[in-house]
This record gives sequence, C-alpha cells and structure tokens, in this order.
Amino acid sequence: MKGLWRRAVVVGLALTVAACGRGGVDAKRIAAADGAEWLTYGRTYDEQRFSPLAQVNKDTVGKLGVAWWAEFDTDRGQEATPLVADGVLYTTTAWSKVYAFDARTGKQLWKYDPKVPGEAGFNACCDVVNRGVALWKGRLYVGTIDGRLIALDARTGAVAWDVQTTDRTKPYTITGAPRVVKGKVLIGNGGAEYGVRGYVSAYDADSGKLAWRFYTTPNPKGAPDGAASDRVFRDKASATWSDGVWKESGGGGTVWDAITYDPKLDLVFIGVGNGAPWNHKLRSGGKGDNLFLSSIVALRPETGEYVWHYQTTPGESWDYTATQHIMLADLNIGGVERRVVMQAPKNGFFYVLDARTGALISADKYVPVDWAERIDLSTGRPVEAPSARYRDGGISQQASSPLGGHNWQPMAFSPREGLVYVPAMRNRGFYADALGFKFIPGAWNTGLTRAQAGPNTPSPKPATPPLATGELIAWDPVARKARWTLALPAAWTSGVLATEGGLVFHAAGNAFTAYDANDGKALWSYDAGANVIAPATTYAIDGEQYVALMVGVGGAPMGGDQPRRPGRLLVFKLGGTVKPPPYPAAVAMPPLDLAAATPSKGDADRGAALFGQFCGACHRIGGLLPVLPRSPAILDGEGFKAIVLDGALKANGMAPFRRYFDEAGAEDIRAFLLWQAKQPAPAPKPGGASHG
Ligand code: CA
Repeated sequence: MKGLWRRAVVVGLALTVAACGRGGVDAKRIAAADGAEWLTYGRTYDEQRFSPLAQVNKDTVGKLGVAWWAEFDTDRGQEATPLVADGVLYTTTAWSKVYAFDARTGKQLWKYDPKVPGEAGFNACCDVVNRGVALWKGRLYVGTIDGRLIALDARTGAVAWDVQTTDRTKPYTITGAPRVVKGKVLIGNGGAEYGVRGYVSAYDADSGKLAWRFYTTPNPKGAPDGAASDRVFRDKASATWSDGVWKESGGGGTVWDAITYDPKLDLVFIGVGNGAPWNHKLRSGGKGDNLFLSSIVALRPETGEYVWHYQTTPGESWDYTATQHIMLADLNIGGVERRVVMQAPKNGFFYVLDARTGALISADKYVPVDWAERIDLSTGRPVEAPSARYRDGGISQQASSPLGGHNWQPMAFSPREGLVYVPAMRNRGFYADALGFKFIPGAWNTGLTRAQAGPNTPSPKPATPPLATGELIAWDPVARKARWTLALPAAWTSGVLATEGGLVFHAAGNAFTAYDANDGKALWSYDAGANVIAPATTYAIDGEQYVALMVGVGGAPMGGDQPRRPGRLLVFKLGGTVKPPPYPAAVAMPPLDLAAATPSKGDADRGAALFGQFCGACHRIGGLLPVLPRSPAILDGEGFKAIVLDGALKANGMAPFRRYFDEAGAEDIRAFLLWQAKQPAPAPKPGGASHG
C-alpha cells in the first residue's frame, strides 16, 4: 500500500510541476525534479538515471505499448538521451540535428539542422552520433560534429548564438551532451585517434563567451596557455610527460563524454580519454604517467581550477579511456556515509572514489580482464600483466579491447536496490607496435599495427577473431561484486534506465526489455525493429508515465551486422496501442560481378598497407559504412578515384584522401580490394578492431 500511495504522490507532483514550470530550467528545478520531467542528461546532476516514477512497475509493465513515434532523416547511429521540460521532448539525431516534440502527442514542434559539412564525418572515429542537449533558462544547447556549441530558443529552435569551440584545422569533433552548471555551458570534444589535444571548456550560457578552459595534456610548445589548467601543469602534470610523438599529436586526452556536477561539493568531474597515439612508447618514450590521460579530474565550476584527479590507467597504452559515465551517490561503506564518484571505465575495473578528495575506496573487475591483475588499493595503481605493454616487438592479446569492458552507454543506479546497472562487454584486443610509425596529421594515429593481410603479406593478427559478448551487470558497489549478470544476445547494447517501479530498462539487439531490478528477470520486451544503443528516459504528463527511446545502431562498431535503417524515436505508455510500421525488408547486396571490373595494375600488397592505415578504421567487415570488397565502386578505376581522391561522396561523410596518397595509391587500394573480393568472406564479428 505504501508503494501505491507513493505513486499517487509522485503523479500528483508531476502534474503540479508541469503546469507551473514555465520559468525555464535552472539548478533549483533540476534539484527538485520529481520525475515528471527529465531536465538534464543523467536526469539529475548526480547522473544516476533513476526515475522516481512508478506508474509503470513490475505489475503494470506488461501493458506498456507505443503511444507515439517519429522517424528521422538519418540512418546513422542514434545515441541521444531525450530531455523533457514543460511538456516538450527534445532530442538529437546523428549529424547533430535537434528536434522538439509535444511530449504527449508526438507532434513535431520544430527542428534544427546545424548543417554540418558531410566531410566533417571523416574526423569522427565512432560515427557522426550525438548524445543530446542541455536545457537552461528557456534555451537549449547542442554540440556539433564540426566542433560548434549552439544555443537555441527552446520554444522556437531559433539560434541565439553559435560558437566554434575547436580549431577547425584540427580533427576535433563533438558527440557528447553539454551540461549547464551555474550559468556556464560545459562541453568537451573528441578526436584523440587522429591527433588532437583534449580540453573541456565553459561558455557563458547567455552570451556564448568563453569563461574558462582546462587542458588535459601539456602545451607541446612548453608555454602556458593562459588557461585554468596552467598551474597544475606547471606544478605537477607536465613532469609526467617525456619526449615523444605527443609533441606533434597533442597527446589526446579528449573529454568526449562524462561531465558530472556535484552541487553538494560544488565540483565538476570530467572523464578524460586515451593518449594520442595510444602507444605509450611512441607517445612519451614509454616514460611517465602522462597526466591527465585516462583520469577523472575534479574542477571548480566557476573557474575551472584543478581540485583533484584519479588516474585509472597510468601511462595509458591501450585506448583505456576514463571518459565513461561518472555517477555520484551516497553510499554506506563500512558503516560510514560516503559521498562517492563511481565509474566503470574501459579498463574493466569498477571504481568507487571519495567525491571530495578523489581517494580510492575500491576498484574491482566487473568483467574478466587480464591486462592487470588488480588495482593496488594502497598506491591506487594497477598491477599490470608482464606482457601488457607489448615490449620488444611482442604482442599482447588481452582483455579488454579498445572497445572496453564498458563504453559510453550510460549506467543507472537504483537507490532502492543499491545496485549500479552496467551495460558491459567481454572482449579481447590485439596490441603490437606499428612498424615505422610516423605521425600523419588527421589520419588514424594509434601507434599500433593495423596491418592488413595482402596477397603476399600475412596479417600479424591472430587467426581467431577476438570474442565480444554483452552483459547487463547489476553491480553492488558496497559489496564490490555483481548481484546478478545477464548474458545478452549482442555485445554493443544500450544505455540503462532504472525506476522506482522496480524496473531496469535496457536494449540488446532489437529487443527493448524491462527487467526486475532486484533479480534481472525479464518482465516485458518490445521488438524495436532495429538495434538500439541509446538509453531510455521517462517522464509523466497528465498523470500518465511515458518511456522514450531513440532507435538506431552506430557508434564505435559502426553498426554491427544490421542493414542501415532510419533512426526512430519510440515513446511508450501503459495501454499504448500504436503500431509503427515495420522497416522495409533488407535487400541483400547482389554479388559483385568481378568479371565486369576494369583490371587493376596496382600493387595489392601496398594497397593492403594503405587500407590498414587509412580506410580500415571505418570500412570494417560488418560495419555501417560500405564493405568495400562488396561495393560496385571498386569495379571502375576512374569512379573509384573520384570518390577516394576527389570527394565525390563527401556530403555523405567520405572525405577526399588526396592529402594522404595519390592516383597510384588509390589504384593500389583498388587492387587490394579486388583481390579481397575474390577471397572467401570472413564471418562478420564486431569486436577487437573497434574502439570508442
Ligand atoms: Ca579512443
């Protein structure tokens, strides 16, 4: 009965707030959020993604059906968290487009296209995705693939300001959602694989003026930046870097996802990414921890001043980013109430840190990983496996892969259960030095071999493809172990939502499922028609609870094995009866008529090397982008050059490659692809070659 009463109160509150919340979103309203609205990326500043709504619960979830839906004009990955305020649902799609819908009826109110140039997609390692908007005082903020931060009128979609947050001559991108803290819009960026220097910026929400910037790697020129980070680099961080490629590449350390604010401690926590290049021996001569790569850094929101950091992976050499979801909670640990920061970064350890000091409380393997035996709780450092650093020409095939034990997909925390729900992966990566590495601005620069087998050159990669499987883990951060784990039918799965209704919403493949938060029993499932990777959100209007979900696969594995389907937004409620039409059946690509190909005089082995270096990161077997050995584009040399060298398809994201190789190089690649087209097709399997 207590539960029912609580539900009635929550729904009643929902009505009140929806009716009187016209003053715009601010910190007070975010703090008071009762679940009727979803006002910021992680619902509240603590980013627990837990909703107090309970109309949809263990007893009623069986009646959940579609209330309304929408379809978008892009078939690339959909990663956005839909926000809801004042009866309006705001979401973004691939290519950084923004949509506003009536959250009750689904009527589209406005849309905004920042008109990102298609070739900017070339700079995005992991698809042209966008994870959503921020709301603040009648405005909405979105970051774009070409590095802009744009303020829109939340009512009309009209542009208030539009600022370039990055150097456009460098391969920066923005895929993450901004957060607004104390009137400042916080935004990071991505691009470490291609050679950039990471930072997070704060812009005045009113004027769009830069308030502060915090760099995560030292200035390669050795000079101060005139930025908030100058002091900590002078005092301690610069000394953790040695001579190496970072002076050309910028060192990486991009802040491409997690930015979390704690109003209690008045601290902002940023998650910092991998090194550029990944290979520590090349990046920094194999010396030094390279602060602040793969770290959580706490900053003052008003000034960007450094407060503390914790580095999950010192001397990062594997793409083990700490950009993953940073969540705050109050936990009773050993009889003491602790304010904690929690993260499950790519390296496979679940970290619990003291939010005030950054002191390590615990770090435990949430998936089986063997790159390190354990994290030494006294030093806070990993005890690495002897082979992990692939020294002296060695290779390491280790867990996790660059895709990580967990990637960007947000976790959720249920205070009812005391559990963090982690969309996790088991995978193994292959690491070996690139031979004759040379930094090439804007190209794929990991410092690891990407050698591709040609007719006369064997691949150094193991013949068995790395395993990749998905799991949903209910992690108890106090007991430091999983309470339950579900094996999933896909590896690259969705973000998570937890609710007071005792439910956990999560999608794997096409199946969007509600689980019992307590024991992981599946209570309801819906076939979304296409793969889902985005996290669901929930809200209430007029006494009815809704669950919203973006549909459409993409991101780091660029789509797995599924044919491309237009992105959709599905919104559910109890008793919903709408049936979105099924996607058209996939049309199988006809087999390539190789007899019709213009014979190539190119060198297929040289083409294999070029393909590995410049093309393989995006055009993978089983990828979202065309699988080139099956593409008619390789049949004709002139047409192939028009696309590869001259940008005939640049509006679609295929940038011209003339800056990297010439006609002869393009023909060598075509010779390699024609050779590959004749080989028996390998089984498509996303996993080891991917990253994020
Ligand atoms: Ca990365």
